[in-house]
Amino acid sequence: MDLQLTNKVILVTGGASGIGEAIVRGAAQEGAIPVIVNRRRERGQKLVAELEQAGNQCLFVQADLSEIDQCQQAITQTVNQLGRLDILVNNAGINDGVGLESGFPEAFMQSLQNNLQHYYSLAHYALPYLKKTKGNIVNISSKTAVTGQGGTSGYIAAKGAQLALTREWAAELLPYGIRVNAVLPAEVLTPMYESWLKSFNNPDEKKAEIERRIPLEQRMTTTQEIADTVLFLASDRASHTTGQLLFPDGGYTHLDRAIHS
Ligand code: NAP
Repeated sequence: MDLQLTNKVILVTGGASGIGEAIVRGAAQEGAIPVIVNRRRERGQKLVAELEQAGNQCLFVQADLSEIDQCQQAITQTVNQLGRLDILVNNAGINDGVGLESGFPEAFMQSLQNNLQHYYSLAHYALPYLKKTKGNIVNISSKTAVTGQGGTSGYIAAKGAQLALTREWAAELLPYGIRVNAVLPAEVLTPMYESWLKSFNNPDEKKAEIERRIPLEQRMTTTQEIADTVLFLASDRASHTTGQLLFPDGGYTHLDRAIHS
């Protein structure tokens, strides 16, 4: 299937690592022009150099998205340098463990700043350009938004709000033909996931225990499987799909545990 993404400008926050990196690599393979927005410069620049060497056009924008003005700057720089914006993938985030018992309200608010504020700010500043291209937005949320995790109220509040905003924006942007969808990963081995595993006494055992609970093939979802779902939703092949929440998770969130136990 040709996703018809050639020369589409796709901005991916957190695009230099984990799920974001897989989306960027997949977009480049489809002939799109990825924009990687990250705090850490080295990884983003390295990825851009690699993609350019392979003949892809792409851009790295250094930004700390917890700052609203840097969100605005990321959109401005993208449009100034590439002339357009077709797709916004809100993906950057950090599971920062601000829990109800240990987290002060100030830490909770900071977690929302780190995980939620930029989803809104980027959509807000991108909107004039998405209107021009009849573009679309994909929000990366998490299965924890619907299952809970425990000990991470700030992150979960942000992930839940991202789902509500997906529906809200899908409704608000109907007049412009701008589609908005969400993807909810569950268990995907990325740098963030690995550092969470390391918080357990025996990370390998914990990983094996989680894998046993995943209904389809008792394995984690790959970053590429998440990226493929995102790129399909972002493409014109999903032209009548909006306000949807997709769970590419091997049945982890919805299938009855009794089926495979
Ligand atoms: P990751 O490998 O840690 O990547 C997250 C990226 O976000 C990093 O590149 C990081 O960039 C960037 N980022 C975070 N805060 C930022 C900020 N303030 N400004 C700019 N960049 C920032 O994590 P991941 O697992 O791929 O997670 C990606 C998304 O998937 C997140 O929204 C996460 O909630 C969601 N998710 C993942 C899983 C999973 O199993 N992995 C499950 C459910 C949901 P720097 O390194 O430059 O800081």
